Amino acid sequence: MTTEAPINRRIVLAQRPLGAPTSADFRLEESAAPEPAEGEVLLRTLYLSIDPYMRARMSDAPSYAQPVAIDALMIGATVARVEASRSSSLAVGDVVLSMNGWQDYAAVPTKGLMKIDASLAPPSCSLGVLGMPGFTAYVGLLDIGRAKSGETVVVSAATGAVGSVVGQIAKLKGCRAVGIAGGVEKCEYAVSTLGYDACINHYDDDFAEQLAAACPQGVDVYFEGVGGNPLMATLPLLNVDARIALCGIISWLNGANPGAVDTAPQIMRALLNKRAHIQGFVITDHYATRHADFRRDMSQWIREGKIQYREDVIEGLERAPLALIGLLRGDNFGKVVVKVAQG
Ligand code: NDP
Repeated sequence: MTTEAPINRRIVLAQRPLGAPTSADFRLEESAAPEPAEGEVLLRTLYLSIDPYMRARMSDAPSYAQPVAIDALMIGATVARVEASRSSSLAVGDVVLSMNGWQDYAAVPTKGLMKIDASLAPPSCSLGVLGMPGFTAYVGLLDIGRAKSGETVVVSAATGAVGSVVGQIAKLKGCRAVGIAGGVEKCEYAVSTLGYDACINHYDDDFAEQLAAACPQGVDVYFEGVGGNPLMATLPLLNVDARIALCGIISWLNGANPGAVDTAPQIMRALLNKRAHIQGFVITDHYATRHADFRRDMSQWIREGKIQYREDVIEGLERAPLALIGLLRGDNFGKVVVKVAQG
């Protein structure tokens, strides 16, 4: 007797967004789940990571990575369970970090899959604090920002997947950590749970004045994840030889707002006057040299209770588009993951 293949739901890119993405840019399709070939495993997606870079992949503007093609599966990192195995290296029931994309099932070779040790933290943390966002924070702050004890570090999107880890590592390294976040609740959490010395709400009318007051010694390192207001308020506070770790520009990912003022002259003047160093980085360039160090340090910090994390869990694969739309509006509070199936 043959058992029928389960239904595989997949979300594809229906069209390229103009400005902020909408639900119409995505399409849900159904087909039979694939069969694993020799050397492959059939994976069931448990959690799908939702990340800002997905907005960039929906566009065909020039980038360091290929865009998702129209009608192709949306890409994304996943935590998945082995449902069937035709490989000696993974067994049914193993849970792995994979790149299944926005779908229920994938049949893939085992090379490149990382088995998850759930004794340290829940498996979904492999998409956040123990995964790519945590690693981005580590490299961005320590290698690109070169933060040193006693320095002042300002972090935009301070409670997000990357920013929440940046602030905590900055404190572990003896820095003054000042966060920028959207809303009172996020700012309170940044100080009371993540340990920031101060966190300023970028929606406040006197945001720039509050930020200046929170950085009496100026700013030595700015961890940039947003662009826009946080950048413009931080620039005048930079110390000579300050470092800007240019991680992301989420507020500009949907394109310029109509009628926006050209801020380039103001930015360039501030960088020149302060002899500032600004370095963009892409985390995939750093796995070969730094990932083992990150895993060692972060595992230890989590074991010792020195790093806190928070997830914003959205239930159901069909809600993945709304999860991404919300992330790009700043609706999320912590690392966004979509729970696709019960672990
Ligand atoms: P977050 O979890 O921080 O979520 C994004 C946050 O950005 C929101 O919660 C919101 O925080 C803020 N935000 C969103 N839209 C706007 C807007 N229009 N204006 C101002 N703030 C906004 O995301 P991640 O931690 O995953 O990513 C943070 C940044 O790091 C992104 O720019 C991302 O692209 C980048 N990144 C870069 C990598 C690299 O290799 N260079 C790797 C990973 C991430 P709030 O409400 O507090 O303002």
